Amino acid sequence: MPRLIQVTLLLFAVLTIYCAPLPLSAAEQNQVAIIIDDFGGDVKGVDDFLTGDIPITAAIMPFQPFSTEQAERAHQAGLEVIIHMPMEPKRGKASWLGPKAITSQLSDDEIRARVRESIADVPHAKGINNHMGSKVVENEHIVKVILEEVKAHNLYVIDSGTSPRSMIPKVAEELGIPYATRHIFLDDTLSSRAHVHKQMTSLLKVVEKQHKAIGIGHVGIKGNETFAGISHALPIFKEKRVDIVPASHLLDSPIDKDYQFFWQAKWKEE
Ligand SMILES: [Zn+2]
Repeated sequence: MPRLIQVTLLLFAVLTIYCAPLPLSAAEQNQVAIIIDDFGGDVKGVDDFLTGDIPITAAIMPFQPFSTEQAERAHQAGLEVIIHMPMEPKRGKASWLGPKAITSQLSDDEIRARVRESIADVPHAKGINNHMGSKVVENEHIVKVILEEVKAHNLYVIDSGTSPRSMIPKVAEELGIPYATRHIFLDDTLSSRAHVHKQMTSLLKVVEKQHKAIGIGHVGIKGNETFAGISHALPIFKEKRVDIVPASHLLDSPIDKDYQFFWQAKWKEE
């Protein structure tokens, strides 16, 4: 073979190998968890999420009329289930919490009993996150009592991010419980699908920065605007090769310090 052709072929081979996209290492895979809170009641959107093909993590409030039924349905649909534990906020009505919420007046034994009852009421739960709770999550003692019970049942914990002074990460770390913190709220009670879509793109910005991100949305927002907004944003996730995974896949992900600043201003009681 003439030398020039040999050299050309060699050069071509080297370039092909050099330019081929490298497979992403596990640490570089871009992954997002979408947790949908407030399941358990008879609201619009439950069926869309429980029969849709978005691999959400279903956060189900215990002690609601359909808590157990919806946990079973979510599990059968292949979705990860977590307990959306109601906890006392600094502001807000008791009616927003529903029955058997964790409040600061309870004894330690009563708190433990409520966590255990919630686990029984929401079968298949792999983890727990807080519904509201700005008052409770700042109380290190109460958080410890809750998380000791969480640990005893091998659950993980997601800090929903309702208070900047939450003790959940600190106590989870001390007790050796897998945990993560919410980055972006995808909606609020007045959200339109356009707003949800925008929040989904904010989630992508977190992913670009640190490869992993957790978004929390809600079932029953103005009919079902959250489902519509998420669905509308999914093609961009596909295009950017960002996978939607159960929350359990993203535990203990390190929080990027620069980014912490970005979302620190966004604590909300949801
Ligand atoms: Zn909630």
